[in-house]
Amino acid sequence: MRRWVVRLLSAVVVLLALFCAFVWVMEFYPRRVAHPPLRLAEGTLAIEHARIYISPSDPPIDDGSILIRNGLIAAVGKQIEIPAGTTQLPCNGCVVTAGFWNAHVHFTEPRWSGAEFKSAATLNAQLADMFLSRGFTTVVDLGSNPADTLAIRRRVESAELNGPFIYTAGPPLYPPHGIPFYLHDTTPTWIRALMLQPATPAAAQNDVRRNIAAGSDVIKLFTGSWVAHGRVLPMPLAVAKAAVETAHLNGKLVFAHPSNLAGVRVAMESGVDVLAHAADDTQGIGQGLLATIVHNNMAMIPTLKMFTTTVTPDPHYMDPIYAEVREFHDLGGTLIFGTDVGYMTDYSTEGEFEALGKCGLTATDVLAMLTTNPAAKLGVSAQKGTVTLGKLADLTVLDADPASDLANFSRVDAVVRSGRVILQSIRLPRLPHP
Ligand SMILES: [Zn+2]
Repeated sequence: MRRWVVRLLSAVVVLLALFCAFVWVMEFYPRRVAHPPLRLAEGTLAIEHARIYISPSDPPIDDGSILIRNGLIAAVGKQIEIPAGTTQLPCNGCVVTAGFWNAHVHFTEPRWSGAEFKSAATLNAQLADMFLSRGFTTVVDLGSNPADTLAIRRRVESAELNGPFIYTAGPPLYPPHGIPFYLHDTTPTWIRALMLQPATPAAAQNDVRRNIAAGSDVIKLFTGSWVAHGRVLPMPLAVAKAAVETAHLNGKLVFAHPSNLAGVRVAMESGVDVLAHAADDTQGIGQGLLATIVHNNMAMIPTLKMFTTTVTPDPHYMDPIYAEVREFHDLGGTLIFGTDVGYMTDYSTEGEFEALGKCGLTATDVLAMLTTNPAAKLGVSAQKGTVTLGKLADLTVLDADPASDLANFSRVDAVVRSGRVILQSIRLPRLPHP
């Protein structure tokens, strides 16, 4: 063989090997040890002279104290003994609730890509900005690149990063030819081609199994996908049913993006557990249908601010969506807090709380959305959701009472997760070891 042919072939082989190594390092190396054992804080921490909301249904304890030992709540009440040498989280008249959940987030912004190799300082600043300064101790990622989310999740759980506990759906499942139009501008064609669009029940089962094997905690379906302005493509019912059945057989919940009546119907008939949004096209979604959703125990994450900020500035656009959420709530439906942050690039939560107020929700209702409702839905009520002896010390500290104004849920002063103070606002004096 001629020498130049041999050289060319060698170069191709070397380049191919380098490419494979690069893909492995970027995509597969970060996915190892998906859930390491959760590292709890050691030692004791106390919060004193606080107004404590133990749960949405209990009256608050005024001038109460919480003692945390080794990451768990060791005592809570009016007169509890604080051992000498306990670290004090500064709080005078602050308001303490169980740690907040945001059950609809994404790690898809460019700032998260290559998370495995980003410095802890960079990621800590981003996690504080997006989640901790908003009071979130647990989040549910409803669709991101698993290489990034799993790397962040592992680094948070091993206490290398200060962040919320993360559940992730991994890659979502779309209807065949059903990638939403609003992803076209931000996603390169070759990535869109890789997005899961199972055409048959067997393909859906495979995709769900593969997601679970790769570390997904929940499954996300686009049961109704906005493929163009004004046009929703529903997921074929048989495909959705196969996906939900496989998820449930593996003990996983299914979240669905419904968009309109057809998307809600597919979600309902396939047995989806949580609507990841209110339906934004409310045509045909009346009391009867909402009552069936409630009867089927399907929860809803309204994501109201996302609609107001990313769809249209028309103020009346939201009126039927507010009415839908109000009706669902009045019928006894379970609402869960979520904002779609990550897709929505404005991280502040105040607007969502104000919008929930427009649906007639009280501070008690919203506290349940932020704490007990998601903990119950995800099956972790024994560990999270209330400020109760023996539960994980996941706490959100506010500087004003939401009972007087729902927007006070956004006035976060400090966040404790698994007993560790992972955020303190500048309004508080520094702790010796934050
Ligand atoms: Zn989303």
